[in-house]
Amino acid sequence: MHRKPLVIANWKMNLDLSQVERFFQQFTVSDDVLKKLEVILCATLVHLERVQRLVGSRAIAVGAQNVFWEDRGAFTGEVSALQLADFGCRYVLVGHSERREHFQETDGVVGKKVRQALQRGITPVICLGESYEEKEAGDTKRVVQNHVRACLEGFEPRDIAKVAIAYEPVWAISTNVHNVDGKADSPKSAQVVHKLIRRLVAEIATSTIAEDIGILYGGSVTPETVGGFAAMDDIDGVLVGGASKEAASFQKIVMEFIKQKKL
Ligand code: PEP
Repeated sequence: MHRKPLVIANWKMNLDLSQVERFFQQFTVSDDVLKKLEVILCATLVHLERVQRLVGSRAIAVGAQNVFWEDRGAFTGEVSALQLADFGCRYVLVGHSERREHFQETDGVVGKKVRQALQRGITPVICLGESYEEKEAGDTKRVVQNHVRACLEGFEPRDIAKVAIAYEPVWAISTNVHNVDGKADSPKSAQVVHKLIRRLVAEIATSTIAEDIGILYGGSVTPETVGGFAAMDDIDGVLVGGASKEAASFQKIVMEFIKQKKL
């Protein structure tokens, strides 16, 4: 197994510039820790350049929260993988449930964005997961299976080897805001889904690729809950929204993750 843990902050449309700068003053994770895992900060587009400068020479990766599926053209308001790569942006979230919900992003669209990101050397983090209604109907496995197949359809195994997948049950995202049932998924049930995703990747690509691919959990992860997820064999990282906005809590998440994985 060669996978390096990924701990991703998704700041969404939240922080203003002064908060971003404060984050960097307070985020004091050492270089030794940063060698053990990949910390990725997904900032809003207009902050990318500043974030890149604040990162400086530290081993922290910068990511975007969205990308368009063409390199250039008359697509007002969009940003291309080519343009993101110009900033040294190494990761991009694709198919986040908030984009699926508010911007009608389908698996077909996700697939096109994944292709474009890969062409420009950016790692797409494909987000997928079931809704509350689908979970209640006992449909989680079927829904996840359909997402994985549809998003990876038509890709060569060598391309699939370059993506990361984030399992984010929609009902568990930002539960502090929506409060559907007020909590994250349990590590054990997330592990079942992660194992399923790995098995699907083995079927679609190869078992070696499936072993190496990063599969992250996302949905109301906090410093208190991250250890439980990190303890699961098939959970290779976490995608963190709310608890990534403050440096102190994100730092605790990073430290807990490596502690639990015994890195
Ligand atoms: C997310 O936005 O991907 C996410 C997991 O958010 P939160 O941690 O706030 O649930």
